[in-house]
Amino acid sequence: MDSCIKKHIVSIASANDVKMYPDNVVEFTTPQLLESLDISREALAKEINELRASGILTLKDAYQTIACPSCGSPDPFTKLVCPKCGSGNLKVEGSKVKCLSCGIQTDIYEALSFVCKTCGNTFNSGNARWVTLGALHAVNATGIEGIAETLKNLGIYAKRCMAVTGSSGIIHRFDFVFERNGSKDAVDVAVDSDVVNVKHLIEFISKAYDSGIGEGYFIAVPGLNVSVDLGKKGIKVIEAHDINEASDMLKQILVKRGITSKIVH
Ligand SMILES: [Zn+2]
Ligand SMILES: [Zn+2]
Repeated sequence: MDSCIKKHIVSIASANDVKMYPDNVVEFTTPQLLESLDISREALAKEINELRASGILTLKDAYQTIACPSCGSPDPFTKLVCPKCGSGNLKVEGSKVKCLSCGIQTDIYEALSFVCKTCGNTFNSGNARWVTLGALHAVNATGIEGIAETLKNLGIYAKRCMAVTGSSGIIHRFDFVFERNGSKDAVDVAVDSDVVNVKHLIEFISKAYDSGIGEGYFIAVPGLNVSVDLGKKGIKVIEAHDINEASDMLKQILVKRGITSKIVH
């Protein structure tokens, strides 16, 4: 279980429904998530399935799609084949088909068969695999989308939950990482209903140093439980009442530092 990945999936799915598409490797794929999260398709599918199993993600506009029972590829060709003799020489009469080879008459549904575009396997509705897809939806946004939006509007391409290997060999994940002049800047967002425990800031500082982060931004909403004077270069603490305020503050800092490819008013 990866809490950073789950947090971002839920946040993205809270702001916008995430469409699922059939995929022959892991049953479904979600390009919208793959593009912004630092994770493989297989690992992402596993996280999504766990979130669905626990009811955090729900499926909207669900539909079923047929897949090859042999290799899992979706979207097969369809053809009509006599269920008795296997002949393709059939005559369709309304909802019935008549086999011109052996003479039997049957429901068109009985004669419907599929050919996999990937492996060539022929199958029918009886032994086909069905995959349920739809739009992933979540409620209770964790509030990260405001920060994601701010970075995007500044023209900063940030990867979410980016895994960075520290000099200690430990793999750290940050909410957002973006490249700047050959170094990496990182943003972590801690949101609490009461106050953010300063231990999260200390963890951020230690992983930022271990990872060789250029500039680190730690956002605490609605603030830290103790006031901190870092006096250290490279780490900026942003304490705000809510995510909107935090987003504005982050924007001001980034604009002031010239870290944007866009003209901002
Ligand atoms: Zn196949
Ligand atoms: Zn036949």
